[in-house]
Amino acid sequence: MTALINHLKQSSLLKTQSYVNGQWVKQNKTFSVNNPANNKVIAEVNDDGAEQTALAIAAAVKAQKEWSKTLSVERFAKLTRWYELIMANQDDLAAIMTVEQGKPLAEAKAEIAYGAQFIQWFAEQAKRIKGEVLPNPSSDRRISVIKQPVGVVGIVTPWNFPSSMITRKVAPALAAGCTVVIKPAAETPLSALALAELAHQAEIPDGVINIIVGEDAQSIGEVLTQHPDVAKFSFTGSTKVGKKLLEQCASTVKKVSLELGGNAPFIVFDDADLDAAVEGAIASKFRNTGQTCVCANRLLVQDSIYDEFVDRLSRKVSELTTGDGLQDSVDLGPMIHRNALEKTHQLVKDSIDNGAILVTGGQLPKDNSNFYPATLIKDVSNQMKIAQTEIFGPVAPVIKFETESEAIEMANDTRYGLAAYFYARDIGRCYRVMEQLEYGMVGINAGVISNPLAPFGGVKESGIGREGGSEGIEEFLEIKYACYGDI
Ligand code: NAP
Repeated sequence: MTALINHLKQSSLLKTQSYVNGQWVKQNKTFSVNNPANNKVIAEVNDDGAEQTALAIAAAVKAQKEWSKTLSVERFAKLTRWYELIMANQDDLAAIMTVEQGKPLAEAKAEIAYGAQFIQWFAEQAKRIKGEVLPNPSSDRRISVIKQPVGVVGIVTPWNFPSSMITRKVAPALAAGCTVVIKPAAETPLSALALAELAHQAEIPDGVINIIVGEDAQSIGEVLTQHPDVAKFSFTGSTKVGKKLLEQCASTVKKVSLELGGNAPFIVFDDADLDAAVEGAIASKFRNTGQTCVCANRLLVQDSIYDEFVDRLSRKVSELTTGDGLQDSVDLGPMIHRNALEKTHQLVKDSIDNGAILVTGGQLPKDNSNFYPATLIKDVSNQMKIAQTEIFGPVAPVIKFETESEAIEMANDTRYGLAAYFYARDIGRCYRVMEQLEYGMVGINAGVISNPLAPFGGVKESGIGREGGSEGIEEFLEIKYACYGDI
């Protein structure tokens, strides 16, 4: 903790207590947060449970009464101030993130800016919440439709993007006039609490943002998904946990948004610009050590360019360096846990046992660390476990295909439907393939596509709803239809 504080310009950003009703609330029970780069404890943090979650919901209910009545320009002003403070503290927030999550500092800084952009975007969107006046159904009747905040929102987020997965939900919720209770992942509570400290400094009113930190995700989750005063539940995480939480939400018929896992195909056709495709594949696959929901999970490459593509990609992959994200010029930080690393290595082993060929990487570290090298495997088949599982590690499996229709069939052969990518130059092919991919998002000659202006989200078992774009705020608004008679 002291080492991290010495790293920060504003040491008050390092918080270890939960944030409820504008207060930092201490618990006697704590749990440890570790640095995945060295497995050392960074901080002891409150270990909240069901009781504290219910108190936070009560605070959010109380605050919602006033917050929902604020003018959109007032919400714009508060959110804008929060955005400015986050950007002014970008270096500190990035350092906290790198130490608890592992990603290289440059990536952490980029995530802070990306997350802050959602606050900036939705501050503006607050001013654009619109209703409708519809044609009269009869001469003595008038119809209007208005949008109102849904109410209190329960939020659960993952460790892989500890800041932006929170702002992507909280910003539209607040812009719509909702209040929130957030449970960040137990691996990365410090980034969430630092955001709360800046929201406090931005004078976002007490109870509008509440953060509960604790290791007992199940108990906290049960309250957030089943409490009658929580009107909406928004989750980002694995499909397995998302399905369970969706079931839990049924008892109170909550509005639900889910951002779940992915199995992104990255297709390279024979008319692609190969250098651009290699660059896109590196960015899409190895960002955050391969631990992103939109990571290229399978590289599908057309037979006539297969050898050339693998050769160019392997040269780039073998140049990627792995190390503590605080060190300069590290490309890949550690994986989040040793067991995540071992699961990734098992997938690599399984594919080689079944006939795939290791091109580079693929070695377990000699010590007990969480560093796995950037790995490339070729001659993988789409039926292998590695192609059917969300790898969530720095491993690129390459699969050969012959025809466009075969590539599309392979790409869609998964229960996931979050992001897909392909590289081609023929305009007809670009449109045809884009239309046929069963995914919520498609990158065409682009390996990184997330931004606050666009609706982010998946189809099939990758989720429900969208975050960002003009759609993002609608997730936090209810529609009310009013019929005036006897006019
Ligand atoms: P996870 O295991 O599903 O955990 C996500 C969150 O859910 C964490 O806060 C976790 O808490 C909590 N949780 C776990 N079990 C719970 C339960 N029974 N009740 C309530 N909450 C529970 O996922 P993860 O490993 O953190 O994140 C990786 C996954 O997230 C990947 O599948 C990835 O694709 C997905 N993801 C999706 C998107 C998207 O936008 N679609 C974005 C990022 C990540 P604890 O940490 O305290 O256990």
